[in-house]
Amino acid sequence: MKNTDKKIAVFSNYKPQSKEVCQLLIKKLRQNRFILTDKNPDIVISVGGDGMLLSVFHKYENQLDKVRFVGVHTGHLGFYTDYRDFEIDKLIENLKLDTGAQVSYPILNVRIFLEDGSVKSKLALNEATIKRSDRTMVADVMINHVAFERFRGDGISVSTPTGSTAYNKSLGGAVLHPTIEALQIAEVASLNNRVYRTLGSSIIVPKKDKIEIFPTRNDQHTISVDNRTYTFKHIAKVEFQIDNHKIQFVASPSHTSFWNRVKDAFIGEVDDEI
Ligand code: NAD
Repeated sequence: MKNTDKKIAVFSNYKPQSKEVCQLLIKKLRQNRFILTDKNPDIVISVGGDGMLLSVFHKYENQLDKVRFVGVHTGHLGFYTDYRDFEIDKLIENLKLDTGAQVSYPILNVRIFLEDGSVKSKLALNEATIKRSDRTMVADVMINHVAFERFRGDGISVSTPTGSTAYNKSLGGAVLHPTIEALQIAEVASLNNRVYRTLGSSIIVPKKDKIEIFPTRNDQHTISVDNRTYTFKHIAKVEFQIDNHKIQFVASPSHTSFWNRVKDAFIGEVDDEI
């Protein structure tokens, strides 16, 4: 595909620095004769941070087979961003050489079954978390048709491999390499005493297995899917599985390794003297 045939959409967050980088990027893409359009793009570029990449993922979640993403970060290198804001020229050069190669990661499919028989479907790039709105959530957890445990606590999060470094990590979950196609269940403040018992540690569930959560106190629950939160009344069950689609990123020759990102984000430079 020639540059003149490649359709690119560019979005930035509200921060002045991101808007400035976005304008510069658009100008350089035009100079290099890429087609700039939000409609059915081949490549979607997000300028900002991981939160901005999550937003553009949801904007194009119905076109995942066709769209490849690129993240430009205006702060530290993020988990979904391959370029820093001063690397715009490098990004343009890589897009000119782009042959359609991609790096893809699993995403999560969440299905919310309501008591009236309706089903709502959502896709998550990081995670989906169910919580009860006011009091303790009580829910039966089933893993691959095994009635696993009755959970009592604030809620349960199910994350993707790339989402394992986000909310899941704050909940004490493990960091999972994105090439491992699995989901992770993490408890949010579970009640554990002589009466109530849950496993207490996070659980990593392989690709084909289905996770089902049946809330027993059937009033109002919130389900957060990445950066969006929905409220539902009378949920019969929520199903979590790896989706048939994946998110695809434009393969970059300078793609930062996952372990470097983890080190950069959470460890930083280690001083040998200490
Ligand atoms: P946001 O955009 O401000 O993001 C919150 C922080 O999470 C940012 O520092 C962002 O860089 C980081 N982040 C996002 N995805 C990540 C990933 N895959 N790996 C490592 N860090 C990541 O906030 P938002 O847009 O409202 O929410 C987006 C995400 O924030 C959610 O999907 C959730 O994972 C995360 N979050 C974390 C906590 C927590 O750690 N206690 C609480 C709420 C939300």
